[in-house]
Amino acid sequence: MLPEEQVINEIVNNVLNRLRDQDEFKIKEITGTNLGLFDDVDTAVNAAKRAQRKLRSISIAEREKYIASIREVILQNVNILAQLAVQETGMGRVEDKIIKNRLAAEKTPGTADLTAEAFTGDHGLTLVEMGPYGVIGAITPSTNPSETVINNSIGMIAAGNSVVFNVHPGAKNTSLLAVKLINEAIAKAGGPANLVCAIKEPTIETAQQLMKHPDIALLVVTGGPQVVRTALSSGKKTIGAGAGNPPVVVDETANLRKAAQDIVKGASFDNNLPCTSEKVLIVVGKVADELLKYMQGCGAWLADRQVIKQLEQLVLDKNAKGEVYCGFGVNKKFIGKNADWILEQIGIKVPEETRLILAEVEAEPPFVQLEMLMPILPVVQVKDVDQAIELAVQVEHGNRHTAIMHSTNVNNMTKFAREIDTTIFVKNGPSYAGIGAGGEGYTTFTIAGPTGEGLTSARSFTRKRRCVLVDGFSIV
Ligand code: NAD
Repeated sequence: MLPEEQVINEIVNNVLNRLRDQDEFKIKEITGTNLGLFDDVDTAVNAAKRAQRKLRSISIAEREKYIASIREVILQNVNILAQLAVQETGMGRVEDKIIKNRLAAEKTPGTADLTAEAFTGDHGLTLVEMGPYGVIGAITPSTNPSETVINNSIGMIAAGNSVVFNVHPGAKNTSLLAVKLINEAIAKAGGPANLVCAIKEPTIETAQQLMKHPDIALLVVTGGPQVVRTALSSGKKTIGAGAGNPPVVVDETANLRKAAQDIVKGASFDNNLPCTSEKVLIVVGKVADELLKYMQGCGAWLADRQVIKQLEQLVLDKNAKGEVYCGFGVNKKFIGKNADWILEQIGIKVPEETRLILAEVEAEPPFVQLEMLMPILPVVQVKDVDQAIELAVQVEHGNRHTAIMHSTNVNNMTKFAREIDTTIFVKNGPSYAGIGAGGEGYTTFTIAGPTGEGLTSARSFTRKRRCVLVDGFSIV
């Protein structure tokens, strides 16, 4: 075992032992279970199937108790989940991951998200209720490892489902710790074992087995374009939450000082790992210098042309001749790293507080067109807001994911929102306001642009069922 693995295992065991030591903890109820972890897909799906059957006969009030217990246990462990994620994946920032885990625990909707519709009239009463699918197969990313597990689990259980996770292999320990904590929390509230299951050693093969398993009623897939495509071709009903390349547009009417702060905060949050983070800044030329000056005053560092060339060589994939290969991705080694560390790799020393690197470029590949997932923000100047909107629509690549605008002109905001047609559109705030951090609305870590469910919540994991009482109980 590698020393790093040993440290991670120790952290996981310490958390679990601490939980077990708590007096009120009903450890008896989970003795003999695997805390949701299974060696193979079949066994996991069977266990989840049995758990879901039990859940069907349990009241909604009880479900809500399990969810309250999940929230409580996760909130007690946000620090450890955040630390473990950074240690294991080498990506992101502990303080930001604490915020994300907290958001998932506190602002993921529970059973209150489920509503029924009613039709009444001469022929009686018809109810349309939201029922569970059964066992859900869920695939989760390395960029929000525990957050996605927490968020999906709460929504899926609230809707009456159980779930089997195939988590990202590179974030296995963090994601599986979240699964274990959730199982401990459900047991503590007196609920059945294995409502939330996971494969102990997840691989692409186990993910594909899960996608094809006959007892999986719904797939919920959060990740890059490839996994969403694979799931969509499985023939099963799929909720696909894929990649984004969110542009942020600043027009000449914006409050530039505030816009600067918001963009630095959003684009550097968790080192730009969130799919919602600002990934391209498009600014109207006449206010560009002032905006960049303010941004440099709040944690951004402006690269010159030569440094930009060096950064391209450093962080992008190269072809066999060692040339930067613009058509393809970024070098994974740099994903989610701190800005000062990235600059240090090309011999530039900046203060540790530097959160973001600004790179003024043309509206061309590579930086502008790639989802880089690191704190390097390409900046493009345009002549006016119309050109800004046109470019933003192009760089978003039809992902229909997220866009941000800083403006005080309602017509400009309306035009951009209409033309880009994204699932999330944030006005005058950091991108993360769109998932409920400093903005109104609930939180999700599964934003289903490609399949249209949008910001998923319990109701996304339900089937609508109509129940018709003919000629009765209409009292109008
Ligand atoms: P990734 O695509 O590398 O992995 C995501 C998951 O898919 C992992 O569990 C991985 O093991 C699995 N996977 C990958 N290829 C597969 C295949 N062919 N068959 C079966 N399973 C496969 O993503 P990542 O690097 O962990 O996460 C970052 C990506 O996810 C970014 O593109 C980001 O925009 C996106 N993302 C989207 C959302 C959203 O809500 N829309 C949320 C988070 C991340």
